[in-house]
Amino acid sequence: MIMPQESPIVEPVPVLGDNYIWMFASEENHYVAVDPGTSDEVIQWLDDREGRLSHILLTHHHADHIGGVAALQKKYNPQTIGFHGDASRLPALDRTVQEGDTLNLGHSMAQVLETPGHTLGHVVYKVGDALFSGDTLFSLGCGRLFEGTAEMMWNSLNKLLSLPDETRLFCAHEYTLTNHGFALSLEPENPDLLAMQGKLMKKNDQNQPTLPTTLAEEKRVNPFLRCSDQSLITHLGLEKKNPIERFAQIRRWRNDY
Ligand SMILES: [Zn+2]
Repeated sequence: MIMPQESPIVEPVPVLGDNYIWMFASEENHYVAVDPGTSDEVIQWLDDREGRLSHILLTHHHADHIGGVAALQKKYNPQTIGFHGDASRLPALDRTVQEGDTLNLGHSMAQVLETPGHTLGHVVYKVGDALFSGDTLFSLGCGRLFEGTAEMMWNSLNKLLSLPDETRLFCAHEYTLTNHGFALSLEPENPDLLAMQGKLMKKNDQNQPTLPTTLAEEKRVNPFLRCSDQSLITHLGLEKKNPIERFAQIRRWRNDY
C-alpha cells in the first residue's frame, strides 16, 4: 500500500496579477491543479515537466478560479472536483464533494471542509499538511463576504483554526503585503507583525511568493484570527462586542482600507 503524502511538494503558478494556481503531484508525471483560473500557464508548467494533469480541485465558482478549467479538460481529461451544492455554478464536474469527504488523488489524499462566507459554496482541501484555502483564509487576511454572513465566515475560520498549527496554508491570492499594512494599522505594536515586515518587502521587491504561511504564524499576526486577543480588543475599543461582531467590524474596516 502506498501511504498518502504527509507533506506534499506544492508549487505556484502565478496568474492574473495576484492569483496562484497551486500544483502538486498525484503520481509520477501527473499533477493536480487547484483553482486553475487560466489554462495557458498551467499547460506551460506541465510541458516544462513533461507532465499531465490528472485532477482539478475547485474551491469556489468565481471566474478567476475556474476560467482555465474548460481548456484543461479538453486537453488532459482530468478528474474535476468541486462542491456538490455549487455544481450548477461550477464547470462540468466529474466528482462532487461535501464536508468530511476524502478524495484519492493518486498517491495523495484530500480531505474536504466546507467554509461558507466568501461564497455560500466555498470548500477547502487538506492534503497532508497542506491546506488549499482558496478565498477563505489569506496570509494576514480573509476573503470578502460576497455571499455569506460574518457569522458564517467566522465559523469557517474557526473550523480552520482547529487544524494543526503546523498546517501550511496555500491561499489563492497574493494579498500579503497589503494585508500586512492593514494588520499593522490595527496592531502597530504587534512584535510578530513588525518582525515580518522586512521579509515581506524583500519578497515583494524580488517578485517572490510570500506563501505558504502556517496556521501557527497566522494565529500570531492575522487580525481576523485574533478577534479574541485582549490587547487587540482593547486597542480597537471592541470590548463591548462579541467575537462575531468584532470579526464583522474588522472585515468592514478592511473593506475600506
Ligand atoms: Zn473568490
